[in-house]
Amino acid sequence: MTALEVVRADITTLALDAIVNAANKSLLGGSGVDGAIHRAAGPGLLAECRLLGGCDTGDAKLTGGHGLPAGHVIHTVGPIWYGGDADEPELLAACYRRSLEVAAGAGLRSLAFPAISTGVYGYPKAAAARIAVTTVRDTLPAVDGIERVVFCCFSDEDRRLYEALLDT
Ligand code: ADP
Repeated sequence: MTALEVVRADITTLALDAIVNAANKSLLGGSGVDGAIHRAAGPGLLAECRLLGGCDTGDAKLTGGHGLPAGHVIHTVGPIWYGGDADEPELLAACYRRSLEVAAGAGLRSLAFPAISTGVYGYPKAAAARIAVTTVRDTLPAVDGIERVVFCCFSDEDRRLYEALLDT
């Protein structure tokens, strides 16, 4: 049985097997959580990301954690919110699903997700949190070895949303 948890924290401080980065398609760094992860990891992360050739929206790619307390970073690219009719829910769900598949494929046991797409990319927070929790719950039975999934919230508003969803 996998433990699902909610914390309010800076994801760069979490010492898990992996933290998930809400990256952009270039994988070469950006604002928000992406910038924070690259700053905390140091230049080795950017050097490794340069070798990956970018990432499609909804997909995920693995790197080392470099200077982070986390062992690895799973870089996923969330959809930009265009109003909801541009496959945003399916693409956001794919980010959570592919990240879990990548983690399991690498034998990782614990990982933390930020609230993908809900910053600069503009995805409505409550709808995004529902997709995050539903997709993780639906995907876990199909992947092996994941013992702990942390939803890492950066605000109390997000923490409350996730706590309510995990209570149901
Ligand atoms: P996106 O471009 O996918 O919208 P952002 O980084 O702009 O990505 O925002 C995604 C979410 O990450 C937002 O909810 C934002 O508040 C949150 N966030 C920003 N910095 C951090 C951090 N250091 N740790 C955890 N979450 C963060």
